[in-house]
Amino acid sequence: MQPARAYIGIGSNLDDPIAHVRRAIQDLTGILASSCVAQSPLYRTAPIGGPPDQPDYINAVVALDTGLTPQQLLTVLQTFELAHGRTRTVHWGARTLDLDLLLYDQLVSADPWLTLPHPRLHQRAFVLYPLYDIAPALFIPGRGLLTTLLANCPTQTINRLDSDE
Ligand code: ATP
Ligand code: CA
Ligand code: CA
Repeated sequence: MQPARAYIGIGSNLDDPIAHVRRAIQDLTGILASSCVAQSPLYRTAPIGGPPDQPDYINAVVALDTGLTPQQLLTVLQTFELAHGRTRTVHWGARTLDLDLLLYDQLVSADPWLTLPHPRLHQRAFVLYPLYDIAPALFIPGRGLLTTLLANCPTQTINRLDSDE
């Protein structure tokens, strides 16, 4: 069977976020029946939503070719979040690691446990910029071309990190 192309959004804003994101990229590289085909640069972004006075986030996006089902992949991502000490307390609160399954081929799913494409990706500069770095021609089912979404997305403070930061 042909592997699926999955895009995973990574975010962290607690306990050395750069280290969490780098380790998460390593974690993703080791997923069973999968290979990492691209990784974006890291971005530092101002938090949006959630409680006030959160630290800035570090964000990145990784592309994987995978033989796992989307459900299997999300389960693996949740295991990694736990291994990074993720706790779920406040909605959109600070976290050591957040791994969102942004897209799985062109699959559309309305299941609340796994909604595809990720239901808020098209509004988020911190997802659209790194996604554009690795897949500029991407089409998001139900939303449109990535380039159009990027041109229309709300303003957010977002800065690309130097690779040695
Ligand atoms: P947001 O979804 O707005 O980015 P969040 O990442 O902080 O917020 P979480 O607390 O990490 O939200 O996840 C809440 C639930 O979202 C999880 O229990 C998960 O099952 C569900 N979920 C639905 N679709 C997806 C998806 N595409 N990727 C990851 N989780 C998803
Ligand atoms: Ca998220
Ligand atoms: Ca999440």
